[in-house]
Amino acid sequence: MTNRLVVLGSCGAWPEPGGACSGYVLEYRGYRVVLDLGYGTLSRLLELLGSVSADGLDAVVVTHHHPDHMVDLHALFRARWFGRRGASSLPLYSTPEVYAMLVALEDGDDTELRQVFDLHPLPAGPYELGPFQLTSVSLPHFVPNAGVRLSSADFILAYTGDTGPDRALADLGRDADLYVMEATARDQQASTLPSTAVPRVHLRASEAGQAAADAHARRLLLTHFWPGSDRLLSAEAAARAYDGEILVARDGLEIPLLA
Ligand SMILES: [Zn+2]
Repeated sequence: MTNRLVVLGSCGAWPEPGGACSGYVLEYRGYRVVLDLGYGTLSRLLELLGSVSADGLDAVVVTHHHPDHMVDLHALFRARWFGRRGASSLPLYSTPEVYAMLVALEDGDDTELRQVFDLHPLPAGPYELGPFQLTSVSLPHFVPNAGVRLSSADFILAYTGDTGPDRALADLGRDADLYVMEATARDQQASTLPSTAVPRVHLRASEAGQAAADAHARRLLLTHFWPGSDRLLSAEAAARAYDGEILVARDGLEIPLLA
């Protein structure tokens, strides 16, 4: 297994034609964790795994319970329940609201869910995940959202989930090798974003760039683009505040990781 991050989906809100929403697979030192499972991501995850029953996945992290970040977690549950009943449970690190959404999709009965997932609440920890220590922080969004940081001896990845501007972003991504940040790009969308009066609950690309600069992150991956937005414009906006390497997420992008 090579050390890499694979983008399963990169749209916010709903998927563009042929696309998927938030989902990222981190493979590092033989350990494989998926971060978020939004609309359209599970089929791509199964393709990556080469397994109809999601064999080969070590852990799942879900930042918040908006469906563009978690609805395919239920599809993963089905893949494990119908495809690998009786297998060891899969560690799931998520906000309690994510689990409540799964339970709702199961008509309020979590008997089977508890056999498939071993639930660990976020934000909390630290937790040990293979080579990583997982820490998390609450970030401002419409609903509880846990920004997560996966640290090993020689590699650090941080991921915002969905967030408004917040001082905690600098600490979350401190000296990260790769900082995955939402950039919902409000300034260029053709359709209407939800109201974001006060408090702010999404980032502009320029704000993501500033937070990455404040964190001294080594690389910035912009993602969670509003459908139809011009992603290169977002990269240009981020570059005005951040002089490190900026990567622009697209579905299927594979980012080699150092070490
Ligand atoms: Zn959200």
